[in-house]
Amino acid sequence: MTPREASQAPLEFGGPLGVTAMLLLLPATMFHLLLAARSGPARLLGPPAYLPGLEELWSPWVLLLLFIWLGLQVALYLLPARKVAEGLELKDKSRLRYPINGNHIYDFFLGRELNPRLGSFDFKYFCELRPGLIGWVVINLALLMQEAELRGSPSLAMCLVNGFQLLYVGDALWYEESVLTTMDIIHDGFGFMLAFGDLAWVPFTYSLQAQFLLYHPQPLGLPMALLICFIKAIGYYIFRGANSQKNTFRKNPSDPSVAGLETIPTATGRQLLVSGWWGMVRHPNYLGDLIMALAWSLPCGVSHLLPYFYLLYFTALLVHREARDEQQCLRKYGRAWQEYCKRVPYRILPYVY
Ligand code: NDP
Repeated sequence: MTPREASQAPLEFGGPLGVTAMLLLLPATMFHLLLAARSGPARLLGPPAYLPGLEELWSPWVLLLLFIWLGLQVALYLLPARKVAEGLELKDKSRLRYPINGNHIYDFFLGRELNPRLGSFDFKYFCELRPGLIGWVVINLALLMQEAELRGSPSLAMCLVNGFQLLYVGDALWYEESVLTTMDIIHDGFGFMLAFGDLAWVPFTYSLQAQFLLYHPQPLGLPMALLICFIKAIGYYIFRGANSQKNTFRKNPSDPSVAGLETIPTATGRQLLVSGWWGMVRHPNYLGDLIMALAWSLPCGVSHLLPYFYLLYFTALLVHREARDEQQCLRKYGRAWQEYCKRVPYRILPYVY
């Protein structure tokens, strides 16, 4: 992207005003959710039942523990025994970018630097998958053990939530390479949004169901548990099928598993899939992800809205993300993208949206 193009790119997330609101609201929401999950009424809406004092929020030992955790992840990331994957061409074609008419708050939120590196240490790639995502599973497991200590054994609901989310994180790590083709790596800068999102928001708000269950035990019978497992399996089948199909197609369009699929040629030389998962809706992977999100909340029962926060927030995130991706694809593929939208009219949910 040339400096001129950079200065003309449309502002995202509501521009400086929108990102200022998010800078304040995201940390506040995270604290509110954690306080609410621990309080008796566990209210999603309304003020938290109590506000902790500064001494409860600050501990040098916790800070030390955090640095040890990050240090451990850095050491594992730098281990020489690893596969080196080649990324796609980046939006900036790896040329230097020059700040023109930048807005400090907007740049701080979205990040001016696309893929900051210190030698071979890639900050964004490291943060996307390791400390926060693995930290989420560690927090979940700690909550499960605390529940076992409190009540003698972990509840079925807690086991389901732990198992489902462990599968999600395990899948992300197993298919680690596919993060290279995501919007986060190719398009978004490394600013507050990704750093806070990866390191704080993911481990602490994605573990909300387990936090809720620790303080608000929920009875769960075997038939309901089986039904929830079935919902999770459907979600995972769609999510993995759609992501793998696109990744295989992007890497090698003549791979036998995707060679028979119908495609639309584009002026860039790339093709768009119009059959298979990507012929059902324009973002089948989001649909699978949302069905899984529902399965993570259901073990918490229906007495509170709080455990459904993730599903509500994630729906908003994916609807917004889909709209951003749509704009980028329209700019990239023009007529071919319009043709794709005509052939596959629904975005995420067939016949609804
Ligand atoms: P996607 O993996 O959905 O990729 C979108 C890109 O795919 C487009 O920009 C385009 O890029 C390509 N594409 C779109 N349509 C077609 C088509 N018909 N044929 C071929 N290629 C097509 O992007 P995301 O990064 O948003 O999502 C990745 C995964 O991560 C998803 O499963 C999502 O649910 C999940 N996710 C999870 C989050 C969480 O917090 N749990 C947050 C965000 C995402 P191009 O043509 O350049 O290849």
